Amino acid sequence: MNLKNKYQNLIEKNNAIIAANFYNLETLKGLLSAASESNSSLILQLSKSSIKYIGLNTAVAMAKAAIKEYGVNAWLHLDHGNSIELVKQCLDAGFDSVMIDGSELPFNENVELTASVVELAKNYDVPVEGELGYIAKLGQEQNTKENHTTIEEAKQFVELTNVNALAIAVGTAHGFYKETPELNFKRISEIREALPDTVLVLHGSSGIHHDDIKKAISHGINKINVATEFKNIFMKSLKSILNSTDNIDLREVFPEAINNVKELAKTKLELTK
Ligand SMILES: [Zn+2]
Repeated sequence: MNLKNKYQNLIEKNNAIIAANFYNLETLKGLLSAASESNSSLILQLSKSSIKYIGLNTAVAMAKAAIKEYGVNAWLHLDHGNSIELVKQCLDAGFDSVMIDGSELPFNENVELTASVVELAKNYDVPVEGELGYIAKLGQEQNTKENHTTIEEAKQFVELTNVNALAIAVGTAHGFYKETPELNFKRISEIREALPDTVLVLHGSSGIHHDDIKKAISHGINKINVATEFKNIFMKSLKSILNSTDNIDLREVFPEAINNVKELAKTKLELTK
């Protein structure tokens, strides 16, 4: 299924899809086996730094082959693309979806950048995600109570850019939380009502209570981005395994860490059932 059709489905059914970041073959395997076992579809995300680490063509070939091998309904998405050049490289390499993040630019420049990516993506029939409002990036101040996306700006932004999906700032931040975040459910509902045809995306979902994620979905969120928790569980597991063994056969050492990624991913996929 084309991701645009999947998006349409999610909006109609008031449901969401998990969008999980992978970093290497092992995290990719963990995520896809979770989706396969729980019979869920999944968006697999790569950030600019993961693309740089794996290599663009290797990443795309690996993801596409693994999706096929696991028999999962999954799409490859560029997370937080920051330039038209990067977006174009990803589209040419075969990505199924892209994000352009102009959220740190003034409104008009964000509109201009996002609109040009939407125009470019038309040639590939691929959906585009934009971002509006302040969602703290790693290392940035997590002042999650301020700078929530406004209804008026969201409406204007979608009208001017025609994005298919919009990441909104409603109280989340990237990375682990220093303080318990309070999600602005009212704002989610209001934006949902103002934008009945746009997929609404919750970034920074790592560490958000599962009850709150479910509530966010019921208020209109359609895409749940989770990265930090997968990276964390993989590395923490690996560290503890390595501390308890001298086995140098990585094919025997990695599977337990992969399995922990899988079990965590299953709990996230359960939220969209
Ligand atoms: Zn994000």
